[in-house]
Formats: sequence, structure tokens, C-alpha cells
Amino acid sequence: MTCSRELQGKMANDHAFDHASRRCVWVHGPVIVGAGPSGLAAAACLKDKGVPSVVLERSNCIASLWQFKTYDRLRLHLPKNFCELPMMPFPDEYPTYPSKQQFVEYLENYAKRFGIEPVYEQEVESAEYDESVGLWRVVSVGLKGEEVEYVCRWLVVATGENAEAVVPEIEGMERFGGEVVHTAEYKSGSEFRGKKVLVVGCGNSGMEVCLDLCNHNAHPSLVVRDSVHVLPREMLGRSTFGLSMWLLKWLHIRLVDRFLLIMSWLIFGSTASFGLDRPNVGPLELKSKTGKTPVLDVGTLAKIKSGHIKIHPSIQSVGNHSVQFVNGRAEIFDAIILATGYKSKTPSWLKEKTMFSEKDGMPRKPFPQGWKGNCGLYAVGFTKRGLFGSSMDAKHVAEDIEKLWKAEAKNLSMTIGRSFTLQPSSFPVFSCYDLKNTSFI
Ligand SMILES: Cc1cc2nc3c(=O)[nH]c(=O)nc-3n(C[C@H](O)[C@H](O)[C@H](O)COP(=O)(O)OP(=O)(O)OC[C@H]3O[C@@H](n4cnc5c(N)ncnc54)[C@H](O)[C@@H]3O)c2cc1C
Repeated sequence: MTCSRELQGKMANDHAFDHASRRCVWVHGPVIVGAGPSGLAAAACLKDKGVPSVVLERSNCIASLWQFKTYDRLRLHLPKNFCELPMMPFPDEYPTYPSKQQFVEYLENYAKRFGIEPVYEQEVESAEYDESVGLWRVVSVGLKGEEVEYVCRWLVVATGENAEAVVPEIEGMERFGGEVVHTAEYKSGSEFRGKKVLVVGCGNSGMEVCLDLCNHNAHPSLVVRDSVHVLPREMLGRSTFGLSMWLLKWLHIRLVDRFLLIMSWLIFGSTASFGLDRPNVGPLELKSKTGKTPVLDVGTLAKIKSGHIKIHPSIQSVGNHSVQFVNGRAEIFDAIILATGYKSKTPSWLKEKTMFSEKDGMPRKPFPQGWKGNCGLYAVGFTKRGLFGSSMDAKHVAEDIEKLWKAEAKNLSMTIGRSFTLQPSSFPVFSCYDLKNTSFI
């Protein structure tokens, strides 16, 4: 396969080709899907290593989860030093737990600093490895239904563990006469003033939404289906998370768990006495085995103790305004808020099936190996370890791609120097010749 200089110039930039209704774009570097914190971290780490990338984002801004799907009072759950992205700490003047507005501002500055300009309103609806040419074909759809096919050597999945709200099936829910919202749509308790609200799910979001409702003079009840570890956000003047990480350097996880449970008991008393049974396994061990995150209390427990928030077991069924619980009790509610979490959506668009599980859309390999798949496929932010996990993944991915990028660039310059003849396996930009359904304009 021989390339003219003119053609090389044409292809070396990120190029667009018309093909009937679908444009085809050659990407000189990896395509990153998702412009949340993980996608931004990956793009920044790659840029730092001299590797350009294209970031595709379905929304019209970065960090859409934080900008559109979170409640007003949200702050980072963990101290800022555990949430910073690679190569840029949070500003000193930010509080220990930055607000969501501050976090978004930090991410916007991060994108600016590393010159990351995502292509917005491009929802990736399929990504497939084309073995015949050794390249990925990533198809996105714009707002008007227009399709673009991005062709690249490396694909980085950064669409998040929270791409889609989980809505549980509850008998009779469609009959409920009041408002039913997922926490993705909940903004503030001010909309529920004076109302009886049932919050389903007792993770960090469910607990915090209950507190927010109390603070706005609504009357929340909380459905607690399973056992749950609630820990104080701080103990001994330090963040519980930071203290745990520090203790884990010296002590076995079970000893650290015992310490956390004793401290929690001294601060809260027995949580079981007000309806929150603890799992048999300690909070850190449970997190590492199942990914289930302990709740860090921001004031909700005091409201449960004082009776401002009622606890209920699982829901049996829902009527027009009544809710029947599995313990036989029933109560009337004006609204239901589903704090039932989110899930990954990768199986719906990623055609390669070996890296991600079909069941939960998470990497099949356990942490910390889940970031690398086959044929130039990578994942950032699927660790169940928050932003800390995203940063770790981003660094690994960038280091790995950098090696391949440099090796291929060297290969290319040697080949060009020799005879100006390129093999299909050499620098991939020239493989565009072989792509089915692709024509040059
Ligand atoms: C309420 C809440 C609070 C949290 N607090 C903390 C905390 O304090 N500390 C911490 O470490 N972690 C926290 N997390 C966990 C985690 O760090 C965040 O969810 C973080 O936003 C994950 O970043 P991400 O980039 O992996 O995913 P996301 O932020 O979900 O970003 C993914 C992006 O991909 C885009 N996308 C998805 N599918 C497609 C597609 N097919 N095509 C194109 N674009 C697509 C989305 O629009 C989104 O912009 C919190 C999570 C939640 C829900």
C-alpha cells in the first residue's frame, strides 16, 4: 500500500469523510467516550504524555452527572485530597468537602488547563473492533440523529458506573397518585415542604435526601431493605476515610473495621436500636468484597434518633397514595423518591463482550486490573472507588497507550524513511484505505 504525500497530509489531521448519511472521522490517537471526571483525567494524562485524543460526550457540557443529576446540597462525600484528578490539586481556599458547584468549577478549570475540548452532544451508540483492519469503529449520534463514525486505534470507555438510573420494579407503583422521582431528578426539599415523602434506599444519597427534606419541613420516611454500615464522616478530628486509609497501612482490614465500629458505637450508640442493622462483615471488608459503600453520616442519624425520619422495611406494594410494607403496616404518602442508585450502561453500546460483564456493565477483571482489555480497549472509572479509582485508571491507561503510540510513531518514521511504503499493520492512519464503507472527499 503506497501513500502519496498529499494523501498523508489529508489523513494525518483528524479527518472527516462523507459516506452517504454517516460521516467517518479518523482519530489520530484514542477516542475517549464520556467527559465526566474519568474521561477528563484520561485525556489530561494522555496529553501530558504527548498523545492527542478525542473526547465524545452525549451531553452539552462536561461532568453532566454533577451538573444535571445531583441535588443542590451535594458536597463531595470524601475529603478533597482523595478526590483530586491527576496533576492538579483542588485550590487551597476550597473547603475540605467542596460543594458540587466548586467541584464542577474545578473540573472546568481542569479541562481548560489541559486544553480538553470534548465533542458535545454525541451519544456513542455502538463501538466495535474491526479485526480486518485492527481498528475500532465508534458510532455516535447527534441531536438531529446524524451519525458519525470515529475510527481509531484505541478506545477508552469513561461512561461511568452511574450512566443510567436504577428504577426498581415495585408492585402497584404505576397506580401511585403522587409524584415519583429518582434522586437523579431531585434538587431540593423545598419542593416537598409539608409533604409526607417516602425515600426508597439508604445509601449516601437516600440518607442525605432525607436530611434535606427534614431541613425543608417535609416529613420523610426511609425504606431500609438491607443491613447498612453508617459511619461518622469524621472521628478523632480527622476524616473517617483518611483515618481508615492511614490505619490500613499498618493494620489488617479487620482490625481497622473493628476500630471503626467501636468509634461509631461511641459516637452514635447502637444503630440497630433505631432500625439500621449492621452487616456481619465490617465496613471496609464489605466494600472491598462487594463494592457496597458505607454511609458517611452528615447529620441524618440525629434526625432518625429524634424521630423526624421514620424507618420502614421493604415495600410490599403501592396503592393510589398508600404504601404497604412487608411488616404488614401501611401508610399514606404524597411523594416517593427513589434513591436506588445507578448502573453502568456499557453493554448497551460496546459490542466487544470480553472486557465488561453483560450483567452489571462493570469490568470482569477485579480491581485494580479492570482498566485494560484486548485490542486497544481501556476503561477508566469502573473501580467502585470513586475519583481516586478514576485517577489511578487514567494514569495506567495513559502510560500504556504512550508506549504503543511511541512504538508506532517510530515504526512509521522508519518505514517512511526506507521506501515510503506502508504496511497495513504500521501507523494506523493509513489503514483508512482498507476501511469498508469509507470514502475520501
Ligand atoms: C451523588 C454522588 C456523589 C458522589 N460523591 C463522590 C465523592 O465525594 N468522591 C468520590 O470519589 N466519588 C464520588 N462519587 C462517585 C464518582 O466519583 C462520581 O460518580 C464521578 O462522577 C464518576 O466519574 P465518571 O467520569 O467515571 O462518570 P460520570 O461522572 O458519570 O461521567 C460519565 C460521562 O459519560 C457520559 N456518557 C455516558 N454514556 C455515554 C455515551 N454512550 N456516549 C457519550 N457519552 C456518554 C455521561 O453523559 C457523563 O458525562 C459520587 C457519585 C454520586 C452519584
